[in-house]
Amino acid sequence: MRTLEMDHLKNMREYFRSGITKEASWRESQLKGLRRFLVEKENDIFMALMQDLGKHRLEAFRDEIGTLVKTLNLALKCLKDWMSSKKAPLPAIALLSSAEIVHEPLGLVLIISSWNLPFGVSLEPLIGAIAAGNAAVLKPSELSPACSSLLASGIATYLDNKAIKVIQGGPQESDQLLRQKWDKIFFTGSARVGSIVMSAAAKHLTPVTLELGGKCPAVVDSLSSSWDLEVAVKRILVGKYGTCAGQACIAIDYVIVEKRCCSKLVELMKVWIKKMFGDNPQHSNTIARIVNKQHLTRLMKLLDDQKVQESVVYGGSIDEENLFIEPTILVDPPLDAAIMLDEVFGPLLPIITVDKIEDSIEFISSRPKPLALYVFTKNKTLQNRMISETSSGSVTFNDAILQYAADSLPFGGVGGSGFGMYHGKFSFDTFSHQKAIVRRSFLTDFWYRYPPWTANKFQLLEVSYNYDYLGLVLVILGLKRPSKRQIIPC
Ligand code: NAD
Repeated sequence: MRTLEMDHLKNMREYFRSGITKEASWRESQLKGLRRFLVEKENDIFMALMQDLGKHRLEAFRDEIGTLVKTLNLALKCLKDWMSSKKAPLPAIALLSSAEIVHEPLGLVLIISSWNLPFGVSLEPLIGAIAAGNAAVLKPSELSPACSSLLASGIATYLDNKAIKVIQGGPQESDQLLRQKWDKIFFTGSARVGSIVMSAAAKHLTPVTLELGGKCPAVVDSLSSSWDLEVAVKRILVGKYGTCAGQACIAIDYVIVEKRCCSKLVELMKVWIKKMFGDNPQHSNTIARIVNKQHLTRLMKLLDDQKVQESVVYGGSIDEENLFIEPTILVDPPLDAAIMLDEVFGPLLPIITVDKIEDSIEFISSRPKPLALYVFTKNKTLQNRMISETSSGSVTFNDAILQYAADSLPFGGVGGSGFGMYHGKFSFDTFSHQKAIVRRSFLTDFWYRYPPWTANKFQLLEVSYNYDYLGLVLVILGLKRPSKRQIIPC
């Protein structure tokens, strides 16, 4: 392993066992250290994100620094409450007992993250891991090297390195890390690598959270008010081109609209692309660049098909040298083309037309479950049908991306878009074991719990499972008759 020897992992595990990371004061100091890193190194973070992804400062603040500081403030405010044990009720058979749920840290955890939100998807889970009292190794992506190196130096400077370390590198380093035994692996990335992670975890029966991608649709109903349609268009464009140029797991992948509304939607999109990114978006600093040549080639291949080319109604120009692809709109590319089968992850926006907007339900539910579904409609019946007849990590009506910023909502996929969830308190839970504690008194001891088994004992046992304490006492005292039951003779 390049920067972490196996001895380091052993030392980290021993450090965890010493109990230091479980203390509230340690957790608090680490969360504050992380917040200091984000605040004091804000400018370096902006520069690293610009260098790796051409990400504008506002976007960098919106999706990374701002969101993370917000999460840290929440974790610091709620830490004691999250850590406190929670009382739980017991059945009547446990008369004079108490029960609680204790949140126990899992141990030494591994976080592997992707390049598109290099700070967001690395530190958001790390906040949960620290808040829950774990030791953690973070392996950020090799494809955002300036960000990964800043994460490594920042964490080395601001956090307790006996418990928290960053390992830089790519698949080879990941592979070496995955051969070790972890108490939890939290992975953000592609489904292909997700399955590699899961196979490695299976060898040690390690629990896994997989935050994967997929094709997130945006359904646009026939909005009658021009204001509503304009707002929808702006939100769609920012949820595509204004979110790391579409290189985001929750970016809109494609749009579905009724045939009769399509040209109006496209015309409005063209107007607003110009308003947002200027007449020559290549010179705009508000649209991110494609992460590298390999991804640019991948996106170019998505367009490299005559029928797909014919469906381009706007944009399409590419500057290979500067890793730039113009915001591009396609109408009805073939459904069996790669652009409609693979996650786009870039500034290409296919629009699929349907006869009736309700047809979008079948379209979405017959494809792999997306991480996010966006539906622009005021029609409550359609909203309810979207919730109940489709499956996705989240559903947002009349906006896009917004759900990512809400600490109160679980963030995660379902089916092909992953499993497990985080953000806010959900991150704390993801990195905790919820341990059941029962404290029993010696004072009450029901004879019917012990053999030899009789029909009468069976009946009393049933009563103590189905009645509260008072009901049970009344039955035992003969003041209440339990409902008749066909008892298997003992
Ligand atoms: P990726 O799967 O290629 O890489 C993710 C991580 O895995 C990186 O750290 C990489 O070094 C490591 N890795 C790569 N190959 C590996 C291998 N063979 N063995 C072990 N580790 C390996 O994904 P990416 O290109 O970095 O990110 C893009 C994908 O991530 C998209 O599909 C996107 O939708 C998804 N994503 C999901 C979320 C989410 O929260 N659900 C967030 C961001 C990105």
